[in-house]
Amino acid sequence: MTQAEIDRLRTAKIAPQQLLIGGGWRASESEAAMEVISPIDGKAFTSIASGSKADTEAAIAAARQSFERGVWRNMPPMARKAVLLKWADLIAADALALTVLGVRDNGTEIGMAQKAEAGSAINTIRYYAEAIDKIYGEVAPTPDSHLGLILREPGGVVAAIVPWNFPLMIGAWKLAPALAMGNSVVLKPAETASLSLLRIAQLALEAGLPEGVLNVVTGAGDVVGDTLSASMDVDVLAFTGSGPVGGLIMQNAGRSNRKRCYLELGGKSPNIVFDDANVEDAVKGAISGIFAATGQTCIAGSRLLVQDGIYDEFARRLTKASEAMKVGNGMEDGVEQGPIIDGQGLDKIERHVADARAKGAEVLTGGGRHALGGTYFEPTVLTGMTPEMEMFREETFGPVAGLFRFSTDDEAVAMANDTEFGLAAYIFTNNTSRLFRVSEALEYGMVSANTGIFSSEVGPFGGVKSSGLGREGSKYGIDEFLEIKFVCVGL
Ligand code: NAP
Ligand code: MG
Repeated sequence: MTQAEIDRLRTAKIAPQQLLIGGGWRASESEAAMEVISPIDGKAFTSIASGSKADTEAAIAAARQSFERGVWRNMPPMARKAVLLKWADLIAADALALTVLGVRDNGTEIGMAQKAEAGSAINTIRYYAEAIDKIYGEVAPTPDSHLGLILREPGGVVAAIVPWNFPLMIGAWKLAPALAMGNSVVLKPAETASLSLLRIAQLALEAGLPEGVLNVVTGAGDVVGDTLSASMDVDVLAFTGSGPVGGLIMQNAGRSNRKRCYLELGGKSPNIVFDDANVEDAVKGAISGIFAATGQTCIAGSRLLVQDGIYDEFARRLTKASEAMKVGNGMEDGVEQGPIIDGQGLDKIERHVADARAKGAEVLTGGGRHALGGTYFEPTVLTGMTPEMEMFREETFGPVAGLFRFSTDDEAVAMANDTEFGLAAYIFTNNTSRLFRVSEALEYGMVSANTGIFSSEVGPFGGVKSSGLGREGSKYGIDEFLEIKFVCVGL
């Protein structure tokens, strides 16, 4: 892409900045709006509506009405599939503009965003569109020889709450299966990255999604998100974000209608590198595992557990690779690391590095704010890490790799499992029996072996322990949006 093309897309007014309720775009009833600040330069470049409780309730009511009218869920499956496939095609035709918009909004590097954001959303929508005519009920044998029909019906009104780091990918993991299965949806994007989701909602209408089936309310989490999770009229709540907010959502669900909650929460991923690993692959895998999206991913392999025999060589090579990484505006050629989302995120990273240093860790490279200023942070490698450090327990959400030394497999597994989280773990080894033994011993929802990149629409994505409930992607990501009904017919 040429600079001129990027500039044109950057200045084009390509996303609606209003709420989508019942098929129409409108401002908040309170007329409140919020500035959208790009982490690239720290400047406000547009604004979005700040939805109120009343707006959110109106969106829930619109979703309920559309569900009850049944225009979407009763549409012939092939027609529903055609709408979703057209939606994916419209997103594909608009992918570049969408990516530029998203990069401006959250600062991700453009190459990564093209694949992980628009690319992933297109694949996910096609994947679940294709499932529409392949998901159906069963007939169970019954004791009295009645006809035992097991029907699969849409859950009803789904609320989808999405974080800022991968809005399109994580949004599509919820929207695509929910819509494919005939539900109506209220989507709440993150304040800091709403624009690309607003744009794909507009494309969904263009593709022929009936009015009221998809509603979007932008605004503050503790207003819009709180109203959704406390609502008596939302049947299913699909959330990706932090653990504490996940807890609040469960509390609200418990106090209201006990709605079903699917929660994709945080992680503290170990990346175990054994002596017998291919060092080059392990370094490459560690780089993509930790530094993707500037370390702002829930699956960042920031606890690097490295075996004695390979430790020094691995540390040297990882340091060299980290030093070579170009930091800057993610829209510019060759940049691999964008800014941190905001000042709060930056403060946490600094705090974790300072804590590690105070407790004896050494900085091999980086370690502080980047000379570019703003919220840019240097790709950082720390050695001599121990479990007493904050970085061992808490999400850092930044470009910081901490190296922990171990000797035996048991020691590595014990360290890896010594956390409240259980989202993703990485291992690098050329010993097949070790690969399977360790994979089995890891208390994680996902294990990525000999690769730093594993996530796609075909793999069940999700965690155990406090990393969440349920799975997204794959055939299992459909169950979240279906209810099972048993119809017993006396013959
Ligand atoms: P967050 O603060 O929990 O926000 C996530 C979403 O929840 C945002 O839309 C947010 O709105 C909304 N929210 C905030 N307060 C709420 C409330 N009281 N009730 C309902 N919704 C509320 O998380 P984040 O900082 O955006 O994202 C980073 C976190 O997400 C990390 O912990 C990361 O590990 C996790 N994550 C997990 C996965 C996964 O699949 N497991 C993937 C990516 C990220 P606002 O924008 O207004 O705050
Ligand atoms: Mg937030």
